[in-house]
Amino acid sequence: MNLVLMGLPGAGKGTQAEQIVEQYGIPHISTGDMFRAAMKEGTELGLEAKSFMDKGELVPDEVTIGIVRERLSKDDCKNGFLLDGFPRTVPQAEALENLLSDLDKKIDYVINISVDKSILMERLTGRRICKDCGSTYHLVFNPPAKEGNCDKCGGELYQRADDNAETVQNRLDVNIKQQEPLLTFYETKGYLRSIDGQQDIKKVFAVIKQLVGDLR
Ligand SMILES: [Zn+2]
Repeated sequence: MNLVLMGLPGAGKGTQAEQIVEQYGIPHISTGDMFRAAMKEGTELGLEAKSFMDKGELVPDEVTIGIVRERLSKDDCKNGFLLDGFPRTVPQAEALENLLSDLDKKIDYVINISVDKSILMERLTGRRICKDCGSTYHLVFNPPAKEGNCDKCGGELYQRADDNAETVQNRLDVNIKQQEPLLTFYETKGYLRSIDGQQDIKKVFAVIKQLVGDLR
């Protein structure tokens, strides 16, 4: 069960990843975790990645791909893996194809959790935080009893600068632009399965189970 998980910020990728990993016992491989592990283990590639990150530079593809190769070669990936956050570009996706073929593996499905931009905007701009105690609320999913005030301490609720409409819109636009060619690439390969992420979280997972169940 070799899976790649895709989805824009706010699509619910993290929740689904957790459930897939729990249900099928395959490792969840996110780019951040992979980098951190390689650095902690002090592998040659890990140290190389660190040298770029310490300078505030992007880690070059060849280093990233080397780290992915090391990770996917490990024993725990024998029965499958869930890649999350990699690949981000078509060249990375092509490199992934090559390295998987070297390892005698292939991708079964690329699962894209698809949600309309307007809904993502609503999800991502709705967060409110209490100035006094730091409790978090969401205008749609977890609203406070009294608008503008914290249920726990009565403190004033505010919106983080990262969550304002303009910032969120920009972040989404960048992600959409980056994701498009990748979706086309995987569609052409026949791996892509888009799932409606606007349904209830449980329904989204039920659809994923239906899809990947026949790989077992
Ligand atoms: Zn509070």
